Amino acid sequence: MKFFEHEGKEIFKKNGINILEGYVAYSPEEASVIASELDKPVVVKAQVLTGGRGKSGGVKFADNPGEAFSVTEEILGMDIKGNTVKRVLVEEKADIINEFYVSITIDREAKRPIIMASKEGGVNIEDLAKNHPEKIIKYHPNPLAEFLPFEAREIARKMGVSSDLISPIGDVIWKLYNIFLKYDAETAEINPLVSTPDGLIAADAKLVVENDSLFRHEDLVAMLKYKKKGVDFVKLDGDIAVIGNGAGLTLTAMDMVKLKGGEPATFLDIGGGASEDIIYQALSIVLNYKPVKVVFLNVLGGITRADDVAKGVVKVLDNIDRDVKIVIRLTGTHEEEGQKILEEAGIPYEISMEEAAEKAVELCKSLE
Ligand code: GDP
Ligand code: MN
Repeated sequence: MKFFEHEGKEIFKKNGINILEGYVAYSPEEASVIASELDKPVVVKAQVLTGGRGKSGGVKFADNPGEAFSVTEEILGMDIKGNTVKRVLVEEKADIINEFYVSITIDREAKRPIIMASKEGGVNIEDLAKNHPEKIIKYHPNPLAEFLPFEAREIARKMGVSSDLISPIGDVIWKLYNIFLKYDAETAEINPLVSTPDGLIAADAKLVVENDSLFRHEDLVAMLKYKKKGVDFVKLDGDIAVIGNGAGLTLTAMDMVKLKGGEPATFLDIGGGASEDIIYQALSIVLNYKPVKVVFLNVLGGITRADDVAKGVVKVLDNIDRDVKIVIRLTGTHEEEGQKILEEAGIPYEISMEEAAEKAVELCKSLE
């Protein structure tokens, strides 16, 4: 069983190897939201069960949510060695100083595990193995004895890395070998393991686990349910985006839009207790979704505070240059504060859901 990079990384992280924060996206909209949430330059990486993505254009960088949107659009659907890309990993971009290679696999000939490591890691590792095999350190741990931290440090030392890195790289090798054993792996590999100003980070992860042993790794099986972050995005055929807090309210708002003769483009339930960030995230998704002409934001403040919603709206409108109209129905907890924030930003709002829905539909028709 081969695991995707993002899954492998999750396992590595659980076992003490550093990775950067990242999330899986299935659409450019989702990728842009993740990038805006991370609020840093990101790397967008095709998630396919093969290596060589870097050389095939499956790894791209983005400095902002808009770029994350467009590079994801380029990567999704791409064919990498016969694998169609259906999802990407959007991850904080590592500030790489050096790229190392650490791989553990079974040496069939020696009939035992082998650790291979090099200080020249990265996308050219195959050429290195062919042209400069001496630059790859090989070590067979004794499968019947415990693998000791000093053995791992000895490998790091032989790699020829600077002395300050011997101990941290040894530590990663030691942890990776223990992951290899713990999960009955056929391969556990980090290429590249990168040194950054913030320390060593696994910038890639390859994990292949013996199929017959999956039954005893419940955590691996459970992990196959992909993690998603934030809000769910449902595509429909129309041009009005409906955002509400709570499933009932969102669906009612949708019905209301239809009743008034409009067609929803998508609906997003931001849930109860939505923060300023979630509002910002939800709005960024729909504003980046091209069919949307009008956004109908229907919020009834309960746990969600109207002033948080208002702040999220103002923040989005400050950051977006697309000309999309927003109709806001805002009532409930802290409504006066919320309405005041909107008024100060010159954003109109409604109190009645019905009137707001009607206004959204009219506005949309007037744009046709
Ligand atoms: P692979 O080609 O399928 O093995 O994909 P990798 O995940 O190994 O990425 C390929 C190359 O992209 C790496 O060797 C790095 O040079 C580069 N890369 C990947 N992630 C990052 C990152 O976070 N920051 C930077 N600067 N480069 C990265
Ligand atoms: Mn790699």
